[in-house]
Amino acid sequence: MNKIELIGLSKNELQKALVDIGEKPFRAKQLWQWLYYFGETDFEKMSNLSKVLRQKLAENFTITRPKVVTEQLSSDKTRKWLLEFADGQRVEMVYIPESDRGAVCISTQVGCAVGCKFCHTGSQKLTRNLTAGEIVSQFMVARDTYGEWPSPTNETRYLSNIVVMGMGEPLHNMENVVKALNILTDGDGIAISRRRVTMSSSGIAPRIVEALQQTGVRLAISLHAPNNELRSSIMPINNRYPLEEVLKACQEYQSGDGSRYITFEYLLLKNINDTLDCAHQLIALMKKYGLRASFNLIPFNPWPGCAFQPSSNAQVKAFAKELENAGFAAPVRVARGQDILAACGQLKSKKDIEDGKS
Ligand code: SAH
Ligand code: SF4
Repeated sequence: MNKIELIGLSKNELQKALVDIGEKPFRAKQLWQWLYYFGETDFEKMSNLSKVLRQKLAENFTITRPKVVTEQLSSDKTRKWLLEFADGQRVEMVYIPESDRGAVCISTQVGCAVGCKFCHTGSQKLTRNLTAGEIVSQFMVARDTYGEWPSPTNETRYLSNIVVMGMGEPLHNMENVVKALNILTDGDGIAISRRRVTMSSSGIAPRIVEALQQTGVRLAISLHAPNNELRSSIMPINNRYPLEEVLKACQEYQSGDGSRYITFEYLLLKNINDTLDCAHQLIALMKKYGLRASFNLIPFNPWPGCAFQPSSNAQVKAFAKELENAGFAAPVRVARGQDILAACGQLKSKKDIEDGKS
């Protein structure tokens, strides 16, 4: 009989798995705590369970972490892991520390089918979706590395935030992503607060509202252009879900709840989308849809073989100033971990690089 992997089961599924091996449902609560609060990977160490039960669990179940293939530490303390799953597929994960907190950037797919022209992951095509367990266990590896078990309750934890901004389009793998985010934010386990989780999407319009209703996390949209012509030329997904549809979904998400803020990510590509005319169009667009939003301006991070160049610092500043003058927050994202290719849009599975496909 094949053993069942426990990481990634919902609470109900865990209960059912226990009932199926003849155990009482209440055991699920204890086991959940061992898995996600203590981060335990060895059934033998689950000290409040009887020896007989521990043996039975080990006979029927597994608790798996992805294998850490490489781990690199940047000069700015950003850390990048190359992780490998049971079938040999790999993703990268990044930890970006701030002075009193830090965000773990997790992946949702191996590769990505959206194919944005500026993105290293997008040049890789989609290999497969990650399972809920594979998404959750990435974060668990980060906790293993930083020794943050049991789940810290205070606000000073290193791994305080999660950004779903690694490889893949989360809304193309919605079922697994929703399940994973609900496990990561469950108060009896890993307990990352929902408002400290941000999911970034390229704008799969029909799924935006539902995904947020089912998870309660924050939304970031990769906008990157103020009109359809320009957006489609760098993000082909815009042909399928044009700006109007994406922004209408954002409106619907905000309707009735004033606390829902949206971050629009805007990548600045030299002479493509960084003109002041683009900034003015962007402001007009925000006003037209009446969105409560802030911008996150992202300097372009080049990768081997890419066709774009980053905007000059002066241009980035001028662009930010236009938005700020119109009343929008528009901080410029500081690129972190560039010496280890850990910055936005640079993630890629090393296997491809080694195979010479990059
Ligand atoms: N697929 C999702 C989340 C992952 S990408 C999305 O597209 O939103 C996370 C962010 O990095 C997105 O805003 C993406 O547009 C941006 N990005 C992609 N390539 C980049 C690059 N080369 N330099 C800087 N940011 C990039
Ligand atoms: Fe996919 Fe996001 Fe990269 Fe676009 S930017 S190719 S959606 S990972």
